[in-house]
Amino acid sequence: MSDSGRSWGKDPHRLVSLNEAWQAVWRAVTSQATRELPPIGVEQVPLEHALGRVLAAPVHADDDYPAFDKAMMDGFAVRSADAKSAGAALRVAGFVPAGDVYQGRIDAGEAVRINTGAPLPDGADAVVKIEDCVVENDFVTIRTAVHEGQSVAPRGSHRRRGDTVLTPPVRLGPAQIAAAATAGSALLTVARPVGAAVVSTGDELVTPGEPKLPGRIYDSNGPMLTALLRQFGAEPRNLGFGRDTAASLTALFEQALAHPVVLAVGGMSMGTLDLVPQTLSSLGVTWYFHGVEMRPGKPVAYGLGPNGQHVFGLPGNPVSAFVCSWLFARMAVRALQGYEARPPARLSVTLARDIKAHRDSRPAFLPARLRSEEDRGLLAEPCHWGGSGDPFGLAEADALLCLPHPDEPTAAGARVDVICLAPTCD
Ligand code: AMP
Ligand code: MG
Repeated sequence: MSDSGRSWGKDPHRLVSLNEAWQAVWRAVTSQATRELPPIGVEQVPLEHALGRVLAAPVHADDDYPAFDKAMMDGFAVRSADAKSAGAALRVAGFVPAGDVYQGRIDAGEAVRINTGAPLPDGADAVVKIEDCVVENDFVTIRTAVHEGQSVAPRGSHRRRGDTVLTPPVRLGPAQIAAAATAGSALLTVARPVGAAVVSTGDELVTPGEPKLPGRIYDSNGPMLTALLRQFGAEPRNLGFGRDTAASLTALFEQALAHPVVLAVGGMSMGTLDLVPQTLSSLGVTWYFHGVEMRPGKPVAYGLGPNGQHVFGLPGNPVSAFVCSWLFARMAVRALQGYEARPPARLSVTLARDIKAHRDSRPAFLPARLRSEEDRGLLAEPCHWGGSGDPFGLAEADALLCLPHPDEPTAAGARVDVICLAPTCD
């Protein structure tokens, strides 16, 4: 890598801190350079295709909700004044099911049988659930004292017409889709997914399913990063893998730089064939950092392409590539869809077992599994894994355990932070 792009001083081997790295990404995604990218834009999708998309325009209530005073129980609609004390006997004047409107009013001494979801008849101000009623012929005896408003959801008590029911940006899950449907929206305005390219590098790589010669390995980073980008909300394109030659990498990176976000994985370290940083530099990428005080993932790099493309150079070890994508690439992808640019949120949980001191003091992000115990709350159990080259332990993880001082032991029972890997956790 040419040192010209380094923005933090003279020492080409200085690692930046996590905070410096996040600030660099934050500055770039919120800066002028980024605005040179074509705007991501919005599109409209029907509710059935809205899952996982990021809402880009508010959804307003088209009516009051509920749109009428609504029965919350099956039973009888009454005038509470008629049944202030238990034992009132009222004449059954009719029936109103959900979807219907009772014609007429309830007069003094009357009750109307009603089903959950039906509009309260005029004159009624309470619903008595059927379990508290005894029906005989045309009369119902109310066994309890009734108060005004009992088992009734008043008109407009959830939202008023014109109120905002969903505020962007929000990732649309089942609950948000239900809220939009309730408020009468058939189409939702969502951010277009950010285009993102994945380029893997390494002479050793073989496509899974193809014959594997001695010394070769299957490409797992390509499929993993493509899946991660999709999870973060981008529209990824896996451009496959390049050989460890400048010509092979140049051809692929030229294609990759047609996308607003580029993940280049492998070839970022100090090996003789680690050609990725200088190849991207020669295509106009300015690096903001290369090397972060963290484990795994130290060789990670970030810079801007000639048109403001966000370019991430990720170390080739799969767990390193995974962790760096979560910590840095996710922030850019989400910011480009309208989310606040910030590192992943952390949960405070209890450590399930002791962690020995590590010789390395760099902040660590370790695959961990969350579980809940009745008396101890949410616990994080570090996964058994063989280090950054072992994706099998990672496959058991649903969190990254954050250890700011891994050179000190952490005892079971200590409070620790985790990043939850569930797509909708944050
Ligand atoms: P590198 O960052 O290129 O030095 O690679 C570090 C380690 O990650 C090496 O053991 C590589 O074989 C491995 N690696 C690199 N790229 C991939 C990939 N796409 N899939 C799986 N492992 C990889
Ligand atoms: Mg390599």
